[in-house]
Amino acid sequence: MTSSRPPSYRRGDHGPAVIDIRVKLAGVGLLERPDVLGDAGLALFDDECDLAVRRFQQQRGITVDGVVGPLTYRTLDEACWTLGDRVLSYAPGRLMRGDDVAALQGRLLSMGFDCARVDGVFGVETDAALRDFQRNVGLVADGICGPDTLESLERLARTISGGAPQGLRESVAIARSGPTLAGKVMVIDPGHGGQDRGAVAHDLDETELVEDLAARVEGRLLALGVIAYLTRPVSGPGTGTPPELDQDETRHHRTMASEEARAAFANAARADLVLSLHTGGWRDPAAAGVASYYYGNDRFGHFSEVGRRLADLVQRELVARTDLVDCRTHPKTWDLLRRTRMPAVRVELGYLTNPGDSARLAEPEFRDLIAEGLIVAVQRLYLPPEDDAPTGVLHLPELAALGR
Ligand SMILES: [Zn+2]
Repeated sequence: MTSSRPPSYRRGDHGPAVIDIRVKLAGVGLLERPDVLGDAGLALFDDECDLAVRRFQQQRGITVDGVVGPLTYRTLDEACWTLGDRVLSYAPGRLMRGDDVAALQGRLLSMGFDCARVDGVFGVETDAALRDFQRNVGLVADGICGPDTLESLERLARTISGGAPQGLRESVAIARSGPTLAGKVMVIDPGHGGQDRGAVAHDLDETELVEDLAARVEGRLLALGVIAYLTRPVSGPGTGTPPELDQDETRHHRTMASEEARAAFANAARADLVLSLHTGGWRDPAAAGVASYYYGNDRFGHFSEVGRRLADLVQRELVARTDLVDCRTHPKTWDLLRRTRMPAVRVELGYLTNPGDSARLAEPEFRDLIAEGLIVAVQRLYLPPEDDAPTGVLHLPELAALGR
């Protein structure tokens, strides 16, 4: 008789399936001795195995219960693939999944072939990036990652060394561009807009609030000689238009609300950085504070290094300058963060649903404080570490002098 429910294994179970689980856990480095047998001479799902499963679940963001059900088993199975173990390609309807796919994606991204994300799933974007890579190195662009393609990947990977691959290109760009902000291109993205008002509470409206903040940030950036663009028009001190975009295209992007369109706008503007401004809203009025988000996929340990640094700086400055609660920085794979080709940070500047946060945000002086904190964070990103003054003490005139 066959059961419609796939089996689950947990502490105390034994048998051939447990051997398989133990070997796989050893394969991902979580179990030292896969071949230990229990008293009855059978492979046992013992305490050590239970701990290893829980560690694995924690690493991969699966509910930590020590039970190997279908999801945990599939994820464990995918984790055992190393790049080179098998030939990889795009298989519509039955996409290949595994850590080998993630490794391939990481390498493609590190070399500037845009497969959009590192998620361990060989989808249509990975296929396009792989073909693009193959064309560039003079291979047949067949989208099949076999021995020839692997050899080219290995050879090129050796010429690019040190640091997390994705971060490397961004770090080099930051170092090369020098400390001065003048001449840099920044895209400020006031979240929401149009019909989509975002969070609304305590007589405040997220769309209006982030427009006001964007205008304050933009005014200060322009004063520092930064070429600043907004992803949509706001009533502020004049907004520029990226030269690469004709008027039609610009209008198109500016009225499009999707994060994807906003990312395309930043890419077309060849921005050095993107700052996306939001405020939070939540059922529970006690939820409060500021949080910053950067591109990153926890599951595969893949991050934008510069994005993370900028998020840390933004968070640090805002927490030091205001009394907003520190909700820390977090990696996310949101479209605006992953589709932008430059470091991008989204910051949630307090909760409109929280009485304290909304009262502060209602004050123009407080919004100036936030704008100043954001700009100091951006400037710090470009300063060599030895010029880095203690958090919260730098002000704009000193910054302008440092950047000269
Ligand atoms: Zn929002």
